[in-house]
Amino acid sequence: MSDHQATERGDAVTISLVAHHEFCPRRAWLEAAGERTDTRQMAVGVASHAATDDPSTGRRDIKRAVDVAHLGWSYTGRCDTIEVNPDGSLEVVEYKATPVRRRTDVTQPMRTQLALQVAALIDMGERVHAQYVYFTEHKRRVEVELSDIDFERARAAVEATRTCVESDTAPQPLEDDPKCTRCSHASVCLPDERKLASIKRRIVVADPDTQIVHLATPGSRAFVRSGRMIVATHGEEAASIPLERVQGVAVHGNVDLTGGLIRELLWRGLSIVWCTSTGRVVGDAASASGPNGSARALQYASAHSGRLDLAQEFVASKVSNQATFLRRNGNAPEAVARLRSFASQAADAPSVNELLGVEGAAAGLYFGSFGTMLRAPDFEFSTRSRRPAHDPVNAALNYAYALLLGDCIRAVRSCGLDPHAGFLHSSNRNKPALALDLAEEFRAPVADSAVVRALNNGELRSGDFQVNLAAVNLTDKGRKALIAAYERRVSTEFVHPTFDYSCSWRRAIEIQARLVLGVLDGTQDRYIGVRTR
Ligand code: SF4
Repeated sequence: MSDHQATERGDAVTISLVAHHEFCPRRAWLEAAGERTDTRQMAVGVASHAATDDPSTGRRDIKRAVDVAHLGWSYTGRCDTIEVNPDGSLEVVEYKATPVRRRTDVTQPMRTQLALQVAALIDMGERVHAQYVYFTEHKRRVEVELSDIDFERARAAVEATRTCVESDTAPQPLEDDPKCTRCSHASVCLPDERKLASIKRRIVVADPDTQIVHLATPGSRAFVRSGRMIVATHGEEAASIPLERVQGVAVHGNVDLTGGLIRELLWRGLSIVWCTSTGRVVGDAASASGPNGSARALQYASAHSGRLDLAQEFVASKVSNQATFLRRNGNAPEAVARLRSFASQAADAPSVNELLGVEGAAAGLYFGSFGTMLRAPDFEFSTRSRRPAHDPVNAALNYAYALLLGDCIRAVRSCGLDPHAGFLHSSNRNKPALALDLAEEFRAPVADSAVVRALNNGELRSGDFQVNLAAVNLTDKGRKALIAAYERRVSTEFVHPTFDYSCSWRRAIEIQARLVLGVLDGTQDRYIGVRTR
């Protein structure tokens, strides 16, 4: 069923929401809060319904995708297929994709779903003769007999679902429940991660099989054609990418996107981040129907009143990761030891002002030793200069931080939070404060790491930079080389220090954004940043 897609919280309860609730109340709440999932399971479900989702494929005796409603019980829904008997009575068929290795058991959510479809049809004045579940992968139809108990239970389920989805607070995740391993919403629910401890069982949430598309060739133009993103440079087709493979788009400098492409990306819930060719994030766009509107309201209230605990953890993790990165790659043991002590001070800082003082002192120390990590003779580093960059290393760092910020904006938006309301960076500065907060812990292990590796292994050479008086920037070629180095780094898997499982750095950024969400919506006591060891 796809009726939930047209429903928002506050509207009539839908049959599919009730079915989600029967499976797990938290899943219904997440679905109603607008959390979209993009799993293979969902794709199989959608594909199995393809034949039933188009009303125009129906005949006189077989109706497809029939909308139903029950005015008394106040819910809406859709029947996949209704067969009309010669005497006018109806037979309801609900399509289900159940993997062949599982049995064709009619589960309680399926019984409830059928009971609600039948009750709605009766409420609309129809006569229902029988009801079935059709298991698409087994090609097997199973008749389901419904009793008064089923209808009573279904009615109670509508009320329970309504109460659940109208609550501002998400139900807690299930505890160590086998259902989670086959739940379509596990990747956004994070039922085990909420405990902020090493994870014994692993609900495998694969990194999405999609990619961030970087458009970095000046003068090129991207548009949509037949479900693909086409990139044309000087009138020649340079790339053609199926939109199913796109996770987000980063536009670098002078590249045009057509209105049709922008609309299609937003329709699919994909975000777009625009940067200048010198690595300044100038804006982003996201779908109007993002999830977790209530959590966003809580975020504003928390950002306004302040959350020192979150700010402390962002800075403590950042400084700790600077120490680890310097220990692994540089030659400054004293600085590493002092950075460790700064990280402890940050964790206990009594105010945001003092925290910023610790962060500044740590940054001075870290960048004072940054040059010890560089092996290529062409590159030297003495001090951090933001804009304009005074040397190639600073120009590369600026650019890598912009790429990281783009990923953090995407992660924050994907869970419905607002990049502009932060806890460490002030929202008064009109910058994407929460995305900047989240970026802190990833600066050293993702952005600095990509830059140091690209410089040390010759991917970036002195010819990849151009000097304009005192300002240094990457050339087009250098920018593409750094984007490639960054993408390699952010796609690399590592062992998450809190959960002890492998995931890519990009997935880790989204997990951390969701942990911030958990703190804000009350499903989690505290936030723990990623601290590399
Ligand atoms: S992952 Fe588990 S707790 Fe979370 S929504 Fe699914 S079944 Fe419920």
